[in-house]
Amino acid sequence: MTYQLIIKNANYYAHHAFFSGDIIVENGKIAMITQDSSGWEAERVIDARGLTVLPGIIDSHVHFREPGRPDREDFYTGSCAAAAGGVTTFCEMPLACPPPNNPANLQQRIALGEEKSLVDFAMFGAAGYENTDQFSALLDLGAVAFKTFLHPAPAGREAEFDGLTVGDDGQLFLMLEQGAKSGGRFFFHCENASLIAALEQKLHAQGQEGNDFHYLSRPSIAEVESVEKILRFARATGCPVGIVHITVPEACELVKQAQAEGVDVIAETCFHYLVYNHRHIDAYGPYAKCNPPLRSEAEMERLWDYVKDGTIMMIGSDHAPFIPEEKSIGLDGGIWKAYSGMPAIEVLLPILLDQAHRGRLTLEQLVPLLTENTARAHGLFPRKGLIQVGADADFAIVDLQRSYTLRIADMYSKAKAINKLFDGTKVQGKPVYTIVRGRVLMQDGQVDLAARGYGRYVPAIR
Ligand SMILES: [Zn+2]
Repeated sequence: MTYQLIIKNANYYAHHAFFSGDIIVENGKIAMITQDSSGWEAERVIDARGLTVLPGIIDSHVHFREPGRPDREDFYTGSCAAAAGGVTTFCEMPLACPPPNNPANLQQRIALGEEKSLVDFAMFGAAGYENTDQFSALLDLGAVAFKTFLHPAPAGREAEFDGLTVGDDGQLFLMLEQGAKSGGRFFFHCENASLIAALEQKLHAQGQEGNDFHYLSRPSIAEVESVEKILRFARATGCPVGIVHITVPEACELVKQAQAEGVDVIAETCFHYLVYNHRHIDAYGPYAKCNPPLRSEAEMERLWDYVKDGTIMMIGSDHAPFIPEEKSIGLDGGIWKAYSGMPAIEVLLPILLDQAHRGRLTLEQLVPLLTENTARAHGLFPRKGLIQVGADADFAIVDLQRSYTLRIADMYSKAKAINKLFDGTKVQGKPVYTIVRGRVLMQDGQVDLAARGYGRYVPAIR
């Protein structure tokens, strides 16, 4: 018979180690892994000698934003960027207009994704005090989890944040009580908004409005206090929770203690908190502005400890696209005016491969943080996340010997112009093939644009 795809001479990752073999793909699934497939036929054969075959990368945290702001990004351009960076499945956060705070809105998003996305995707549901009666229906549609903001909508973005916020601690507690009954997990962006607002006021009054305004107004205590509250409320209500983009070692320590005490909490960080720090905000201003802010170099160093000891379960990109004016407005001493976030999905894997190359952690430590752990956290396992027979044939094939320079000109995100923080960065370790269910979507940096609409929604299993 003729198989769909054979990856010959694969040095592939599975179960915390690397193995060698030929991977046989049929009907989008890994059909078998054999030591010798010579003489077997396939529509496509890739010789992976000298390369490293990883499970397809699952980005735990992206904001492609559709429907709502197609001028920033949409499922087509965002998923092209995913394919360029070895990402085969993305988990879309619930910022959209309208947000997925009920089944009809979620279904609309899923349909848009299936119409436009090249790669597979999963969806978060929006949770707030206003829509607790929708939680079960959203989970029935396969939402991987919920995301809630503990701060009011930023000025001018009220529609995007509809049904995504809790007004105060009382509403938060009542929402978690309902959440505990739903069977879902509730993720939080943890920063104390009133503390930040007070510090912003103080800094403005003092005329202290340089680039350091961003991190001086959002100090680590704002995150630590917020994480502490979520953990206490989770303990009291029994609701499973998650902390997205945790950045502060002290907050990680609280999570670690809570986990040891049996609180059902998992934590995610983003690659930039492991690689960039205050110095980059000083130098790049709005282009290094994200929330929570990049931390001090000392905190950045200690964050690695919690990645390596397992307190932090997964790493995402927090891909956050904006039009150029939404960043440039913060140049020349007005950083508070700029929007927060970087459209980073296509540099997530290369930058972390480079960190592994530099000895920050081993490849065996890194890979599950981007694949299996994320799939397990979000109910996508065993269909996604591991190279094993029966799983979807999703792969990121990388060349660990190849060093190259990340360039905005080579990127696919509609918002690539604002990726100045990464532009010109030299890295070692390049994604050379991105394969989703047996179909090659990227080869040597060239994305197959004809694959628009090939991506499928992956509902969580629970
Ligand atoms: Zn985010």
